[in-house]
Amino acid sequence: MPTTDHLIDLRSDTVTRPSAAMRAAMAAADVGDDVYGDDPTVNRLQALTAERFGFEAALFAPSGTQSNLIGLMAHCGRGDEYLVGQLAHTFKYEGGGAAVLGSIQPQPLAQQPDGTLLLSDIEGAIKPDDIHFARTRLLALENTIGGKVIPRAYQQDATALAHRHGLIAHLDGARVCNAAVKLGISLQDAVAGFDSVSVCFSKGLGAPVGSVLCGTREMITRGIRIRKMLGGGLRQAGILAAAGIHALEHNVERLAEDHDNAARLAAALAGIAELRVHAPETNILYVDLPAAACSTLGPFLRERGIVASVGPHMRMVTHLDVARDDVLRVAAAFKAFFA
Ligand SMILES: *Cc1c(COP(=O)(O)O)cnc(C)c1O
Repeated sequence: MPTTDHLIDLRSDTVTRPSAAMRAAMAAADVGDDVYGDDPTVNRLQALTAERFGFEAALFAPSGTQSNLIGLMAHCGRGDEYLVGQLAHTFKYEGGGAAVLGSIQPQPLAQQPDGTLLLSDIEGAIKPDDIHFARTRLLALENTIGGKVIPRAYQQDATALAHRHGLIAHLDGARVCNAAVKLGISLQDAVAGFDSVSVCFSKGLGAPVGSVLCGTREMITRGIRIRKMLGGGLRQAGILAAAGIHALEHNVERLAEDHDNAARLAAALAGIAELRVHAPETNILYVDLPAAACSTLGPFLRERGIVASVGPHMRMVTHLDVARDDVLRVAAAFKAFFA
């Protein structure tokens, strides 16, 4: 096993390593050449994901970045525009791929503190049909965003607004399973109103690789060509898809434990006067630190077996490989540092 086993890694929920049961499922996967559509395990993951999220069809992609890009490119053409929050992953953290590779212009909108975009901002940014303007084609939202759950009523209003104006509504649902579990609703209800959704299996669900894009059969058919063009056509990908199936079947409900652990960590840190702890909604906890602490806290934690991205607005993420007791160890280390 890896030598990093004893470390508590709070940098992201992407750091999880596949469990023994997941590895066994991967090793046993029936495979074929997925570019020919022959991989039974990929086909099963796609069918299962489409069914769980209430879509006609789905497409396996190597990453969430690619899955979002396939979605945007399947919906929008050269010279089209999409409306997106300025803190959204597709706008800020995907290398500008929609613009660079899709010739799709992003129209960024101010993100509100709860992660939403004002409906009036969305409406105001939709361009009329005029030769001066790009054609506004799509609204992209993200849930969870910065660990925050988008309110259901807002989701309904925003997607209805998009549809009223003839726009497509796409969800970057990298962590939408966290939102569903937090709200206590089905995955299908969690994505209600959206025309397409990208879901990551490599975050809190604990798979090593993989995302799935859900949409209509017609959109997914276009997406298959785009995925090939982007270099995402994989061959015996069933080995990876098996991890996704295992994740869907075993690791969704347990996200509640990650949410509990984040809340427990927040409560334990709240007693430290030097910190400002932002109450977590799901598995992502933000803590504001005094600037003077930033350079020394990281090495201090590291000596105690804790890996974290330390900064003035520090993010800590709980996941499958962070146990309840680990949270107490982290809190004890913070207390020792600030004592
Ligand atoms: C991680 C993430 C992605 C992209 O996933 P990768 O697999 O890292 O490319 C997209 N959107 C959100 C919100 C994410 O957190």
